[in-house]
Amino acid sequence: MSEQTTTDNGSSAKKNETILSGMQPTGSLHVGNLEGALRNWVRLQDEYWMYCCIVDWHALTAEYEDTRQLKANVFEVAIDFMAAGLDPEKCAIFIQSEVAEHAELHLIFSMLITVPTLTRLPTYQEKKDTLDSYGFLGYPVLQAADICLYNAHKVPVGKDQAKHIWLAADLAKRFNFLYKKTFNEPEALFTEVPLILGADNRKMSKSYDNHIPLEYTDKQTEKRIKSFYTDPGKLRKGDPGHPEKCPVFLLHQIYTPGAVEDIAPPCKSGQLGCVDCKMRLVANLNEALAPVREKRAELVRQPDYVWDVLATGAERARQRAAGVMDRVRRAMKTDYRKAKK
Ligand code: SF4
Repeated sequence: MSEQTTTDNGSSAKKNETILSGMQPTGSLHVGNLEGALRNWVRLQDEYWMYCCIVDWHALTAEYEDTRQLKANVFEVAIDFMAAGLDPEKCAIFIQSEVAEHAELHLIFSMLITVPTLTRLPTYQEKKDTLDSYGFLGYPVLQAADICLYNAHKVPVGKDQAKHIWLAADLAKRFNFLYKKTFNEPEALFTEVPLILGADNRKMSKSYDNHIPLEYTDKQTEKRIKSFYTDPGKLRKGDPGHPEKCPVFLLHQIYTPGAVEDIAPPCKSGQLGCVDCKMRLVANLNEALAPVREKRAELVRQPDYVWDVLATGAERARQRAAGVMDRVRRAMKTDYRKAKK
């Protein structure tokens, strides 16, 4: 499918395919989100017609009891999206629950899948002892609806989400087979993203509290980097180190040009101590994050603008979703009043 799209600033762009990307509102994003997803999305917004969805309903699968923080978290994610470079002139940035069609398509898709298919998914198996709600079981179906609602061709995800994209493609195929060809079968768009580990050598994540938030000041960043795990065999300068076992070196590979030549050999030989090594990273990381933090601070001072961006994004998303849902209802013959007798 090829479509001519027009940006809100009136310029016309030829974008052949649509991408849906989503992120849960967990509050201020961190370096792992930036390097693992957002940098990639920023590149993709020039090539694809892109919908960037803050998936607040997905956040409820775990946090449904206390929703007091949700609004602040949505705001934080919106400003981090834009601070990282997502441009509301190029992509629709919006909140999932402001486009009610997500729920409508979720309900329809939930008829086309069996419970055992969902209970077999590794993400369900991993958390079923702590999260056993109907909403959690059906969250991959909601994810499929998120994607198909925009008739997305591609979804930028990590390999751990691959099964969910196959499930979305399966649901699209099943709907097309049962009723009428309506949906593209979406594909996962895997991009090589650097591995980012946090202070405790586990995957960088807010829930592990091992992350470097984008909102941190230079000083806070320094404090966090100083707390990072390093090669346990390298206790002092002079001890030979193993950079391949060290999360600080992984960050150097992103933020320090020539890290493989300039950091790894002196670490291995013992010439470079961990304190100096970390301070070099702090300087480079703070320099790289400075424009993101500057933009972030600017957006924090303009909350009305940020909420307007989200409202405009939701409007654009609703237009697209309404067109797709019209086709869904026609295909299912549930467009009762519009249908010819
Ligand atoms: S010198 Fe740097 S790379 Fe080597 S173990 Fe220490 S912190 Fe890690």
